[in-house]
Amino acid sequence: MPEGPEIRRAADQVQHALQGRRLIQVAFGLDHLTACAKPLEGHCVSSVDTWGKAMLTRFDNGMTLYTHNQLYGRWYVGDADLNPRTDRKLRAAFRTEQTAALLYSASTIELLTPQLLKQHPFLSKLGPDVLHTSTATEQIIQQLMGISFRKRQLGYLLTDQTCLAGLGNYLRCETLFDAQLSPTLRPVDCSDQQLERLAQSLLTLTRQSYTSSGITNDISLAKHLIEQGTPFEQARFYVFRRNGLPCYRCGQPIEKIKHSSQTCYICRTCQTHGE
Ligand SMILES: [Zn+2]
Repeated sequence: MPEGPEIRRAADQVQHALQGRRLIQVAFGLDHLTACAKPLEGHCVSSVDTWGKAMLTRFDNGMTLYTHNQLYGRWYVGDADLNPRTDRKLRAAFRTEQTAALLYSASTIELLTPQLLKQHPFLSKLGPDVLHTSTATEQIIQQLMGISFRKRQLGYLLTDQTCLAGLGNYLRCETLFDAQLSPTLRPVDCSDQQLERLAQSLLTLTRQSYTSSGITNDISLAKHLIEQGTPFEQARFYVFRRNGLPCYRCGQPIEKIKHSSQTCYICRTCQTHGE
C-alpha cells in the first residue's frame, strides 16, 4: 500500500495539474457521487492536502474531496484529453482546458462540506502527520507517550494512524532499524534518548522518502549501490524486503519475522532492547 510519501507525491501531481484552473468537466464513477459532479464544474481546485494516506482535494466552493487509495487506487495526471489504457474502474475525473487528473480504483471517495470534514469519523481521529513540516520531534514523543499508546509495542504502534499518520510497513521497518529499536519495545520501555532517536528517524526518513522518490537507506550509499547496478528496490531500503542479505551497518543477515500480523524486517544485531 502506498504510504505517506507516495500519497504526497501523487497529491503534488494532482495539485500541479488542477490548482487554480477552472474545471470544465467533472465526473464520478460511484453512484452516491454522480449528482455531485455537475455543481463542481466552473469551480477551481484551491489546494490538494494530505493527511497520512488520505488525500484532501479542496475546491473554491468550500467542498473537499476525501480520497483514500487503499491498495489499488491510482491517480493519472496529464493533458486534457488523457485517457489511459487500463482495466481499472474510473472513480473520479477532473478536466480543465489544458489538464486532467483521473482517479481509478479507489474505493473510499467522499465529497464533504466543511462541517462533515471536521466531524469525519476517520479523519478526525488521525494523529499528527509525520510528513507535515509543522510536526516536530517533541510532538511525536508526546504522542508515543500518550496514555493510549505508551504500553503498546512499537511494531504495532507505528502503523496505527491514530497515533501517527502516514506510516505503513516499509516506513515502520526502516525507522525502527534506523533508530536501532526492536519492534517489540514499547514507548514506556524506551529511554529519553531512544525516543528522541525514534522521533528523529520518523521525521528524517519519511521526508527523505518523499524527496528522493522512496529512498530510506543512507542516501549516498543508495546512490552508490544503484550506480554499481543494484536494483532500485534493493538499494532504497536498509532492511525492508532484504531478508537474508547483509545489513549495511553490521554485515549480519537481515531477518524476516511476523509482527502484528505483518511481515517485519529487522537486524537483530543493530536493533536491540538496550540503550
Ligand atoms: Zn545490522
